[in-house]
Amino acid sequence: MKKISLRQGAERKLLNGIHLIDSKDIADQSLDNAWVEIRNVKGEFLGIGYLSQQNKGGGWVVSRQPVKIDAQFYETLFSQAWGKRQSYHDDQATTAYRLFNQDGDGLGGLSIDLYGEYSVFSWYNEFIYSQRDLIIKAFHKAIPQVKGSYEKIRFKGPDHDSRHIFGQEAPETFLILENGVSYQVFLNDGLMTGIFLDQHEVRARLVDGLASGKKVLNLFSYTAAFSVAAAMGGAAETTSVDLAKRSRELSQAHFEANGLDLVNHRLVVMDVFSYFKYAKRHDLTFDVIILDPPSFARNNKKTFSVAKDYHKLVEESLEILQAGGLIIASTNASNLSLKKFKEQIEKGFGERSHDYVALHQLPYDFQTNKKDESSNYLKVFTIRT
Ligand code: SAH
Repeated sequence: MKKISLRQGAERKLLNGIHLIDSKDIADQSLDNAWVEIRNVKGEFLGIGYLSQQNKGGGWVVSRQPVKIDAQFYETLFSQAWGKRQSYHDDQATTAYRLFNQDGDGLGGLSIDLYGEYSVFSWYNEFIYSQRDLIIKAFHKAIPQVKGSYEKIRFKGPDHDSRHIFGQEAPETFLILENGVSYQVFLNDGLMTGIFLDQHEVRARLVDGLASGKKVLNLFSYTAAFSVAAAMGGAAETTSVDLAKRSRELSQAHFEANGLDLVNHRLVVMDVFSYFKYAKRHDLTFDVIILDPPSFARNNKKTFSVAKDYHKLVEESLEILQAGGLIIASTNASNLSLKKFKEQIEKGFGERSHDYVALHQLPYDFQTNKKDESSNYLKVFTIRT
């Protein structure tokens, strides 16, 4: 195994529990895509890890002990991750959730989600992908309950972004359950699967009746999962707005899976900012507005970034929100701290009074590294006006 030494000062981060390796912290920059033994400037052992450039960071610390990374190592990792989620396995009303989450479960660069009897591996860098045969085999040996697996490529490299990799193939589309609500998923069509599992606790609040009897507006709705959860929780009406044409049929499938009539549930294919204008022109108002934009988006010549523009979504929403209504403000931007996100929201509210009634971050199945705030990327405030 190659040995690398961290620059002076960078050792502290590792000792404080940060597992992501910043390329700038490594003295020898020529090495990439390899297991490494990490040392400090004095040559003392700090841990075992690997180097590989990815979206964020240049590698991961995997163990602070001098362990051997082999099939047994991975099997133990997956068995432990499975064991931690026993309450999810026991819950008959939920059949889709995260089984393994990056460094929160001891191996950065990989996550594994369960969808009924199938799993989906997400690979975040080239090196972890090069270890896939060993990892996939170890996973299925440790968790024989999972009948088949798919993969998603979340780094630049292979020319496919999704494919079947192990065991039985899943139907092209099928239903999973979450808090007793059905959602239609697809495991082999691009990077998305029809539902974002990290929002399941927010959907649970909606199913529990947070929007019961209310008129709900769901912006950036994708497959309208929040709307379906709200509808199942007794919402009087929902309106789901997304730019993507395909969102309409996918949303419809979620509603139909639960026997919900679409008369009270509108699906609108439109730019969110155009919809604000449309709603104002038609005097439409809502009791609950859900905001869950992508971190960055471009539509025609306009760009939207959560870090700079979120306040505009709040400002516009307040113009069509009933007095005493709720705003559910969500972002999954890992580069935006909780504090900075709140500043955006505050800017949007300006002088208008409001109360923060709840904050949801990643649920328990999305195990995070508690020492690294950026790994807890999800932030969802429920705000009453
Ligand atoms: N809230 C969704 C996930 C949203 S993903 C859920 O819980 O499932 C982001 C979505 O925003 C995508 O479906 C994308 O098509 C949509 N989108 C991006 N820019 C948009 C815009 N300007 N107006 C409307 N929708 C937009």
